[in-house]
Amino acid sequence: MPQTLLGVERKAGFGLNRADLESALSGLRNELQINEARRRDSDLRNAQLKIENERLLAEVTALRRLRNEAYTDALTGLHNRKFYEERMGTLLALSQREDIPISLIAIDADRFKEINDMNGHDVGDEILKFIADHLKRVARRRSDIGAARLGGEEFMIILPSTTLEQAAKIAERLRANIASDRNRVAVKGTIPATGDKTNNRPVTISEGVVQLKKGETAKELYERADKALYLAKEQGRNQVVTENELDKTTRPKAPSGFGILRANFITQFNEMSRLQIQALA
Ligand code: GH3
Ligand code: MG
Ligand code: MG
Repeated sequence: MPQTLLGVERKAGFGLNRADLESALSGLRNELQINEARRRDSDLRNAQLKIENERLLAEVTALRRLRNEAYTDALTGLHNRKFYEERMGTLLALSQREDIPISLIAIDADRFKEINDMNGHDVGDEILKFIADHLKRVARRRSDIGAARLGGEEFMIILPSTTLEQAAKIAERLRANIASDRNRVAVKGTIPATGDKTNNRPVTISEGVVQLKKGETAKELYERADKALYLAKEQGRNQVVTENELDKTTRPKAPSGFGILRANFITQFNEMSRLQIQALA
């Protein structure tokens, strides 16, 4: 317990003794020195901690940037394939477990090779950025996770909590917006309907839209979206095809390996039954 002048005064009564006073003074001086040393120590420690924290913060910022770059397409600023694949895995599991709809739009630029061949790669890149800017404006709800560029002129939009009908509407709006937007670099090419050469050919996209089915894997979902997209290309491009059309155009399937085995078994079974009946007759 540190001595105080007041304490010494009280102890000594009214008349203060010089020796007590000296000893109280020296006690207080000591205490002051110790406290001052402690304060300087903690000032130093604070300064060290501040520097250390600044270093940690810089590392966090750098790592965060690296992480974002690893999931971002450098040309367009959209998510990249890695992001799409990782996100799709967790979203699909959640969607299946909670029974929440989730839809997918597969997008591919039409006759993009011609844009590159007739205008050069730089113009091609400009058009990819133009398409990406439209994609960024689609699906901007808080729960949406944005479009991804899977490679080349192929893109994908994942739409959580969205039914096929809603996704088809979004896809159609996107298609119409891109086809009618003249606010971009002009591209030389051919007019699809006539084959005539032009200095400002349309830039269009085709889209395939699907909704996750129960028990479906990410790969199966992607393949159906790709099939719908392929059908959109086949039917003339610059259009949206949903899985409903896919079902309509699916031809009766040839028997699978298992189907053939089963059919053979039934034939053999019928033949044996016939022979047995003949033998009994
Ligand atoms: P379709 O309508 O059937 O999709 O025809 P398409 O010409 O778009 O299809 P195809 O797959 O034959 O061509 C894709 C082209 O995309 C080939 C390549 O020149 C171009 N491409 C791929 N990646 C890039 C890129 O990063 N930048 C640019 N400028 N072009 C790219
Ligand atoms: Mg393609
Ligand atoms: Mg293409």
